[in-house]
Amino acid sequence: MKVLIDNGHGSNTPGKCSPDGRLKEYAYTREIAGRVVFELRKLGIDAELVVKEEVDVPLAERCRRVNEYKASEAILISIHCNAAGNGSNWMQARGWEAWTSVGQTKADKLADCLYEAAEECLFGMKIRKDMADGDPDKESSFYILKHTKCPAVLTENLFQDNKEDVDFLLSEEGKRTIVSLHVKGICKYLGI
Ligand SMILES: [Zn+2]
Repeated sequence: MKVLIDNGHGSNTPGKCSPDGRLKEYAYTREIAGRVVFELRKLGIDAELVVKEEVDVPLAERCRRVNEYKASEAILISIHCNAAGNGSNWMQARGWEAWTSVGQTKADKLADCLYEAAEECLFGMKIRKDMADGDPDKESSFYILKHTKCPAVLTENLFQDNKEDVDFLLSEEGKRTIVSLHVKGICKYLGI
């Protein structure tokens, strides 16, 4: 099983940063993605980054790279940070959430595992859920979820426009927590 780790955006993507400029989503999620791959490989898991470039790689090309693997031979997790506003002001919304494509697919099991890991790793912090269809993940036709064949989940790792979330995300404890959330969730899915 190939574990593919994607990270949001690129150095040339406008916006996508905290109001004070300390957290840039592309840079932060690249650091987290790299650390997740490193930790997974230490556990003997065949993990790889989808995007090794600093600049943004179009979603169609990201999907093409993912779809080189058969649906049964890979899983994809795309790592992002959330935002409630347009990036110019601090906002109130906080918390962690994960998205799958619409309908019941294998991605729902992967999302369940990531939610379980989030409950453990982010103990006491807000976990944002949509229980309307009986599972916690939110559903959307995000391009990277809709156009990839393997189970795919997009994680929104706290809010880059919430001051408390950004302070936590940028701390070493915060980075370790977000990395281990993904590693634990993936291991649960793989049954390791
Ligand atoms: Zn994003």
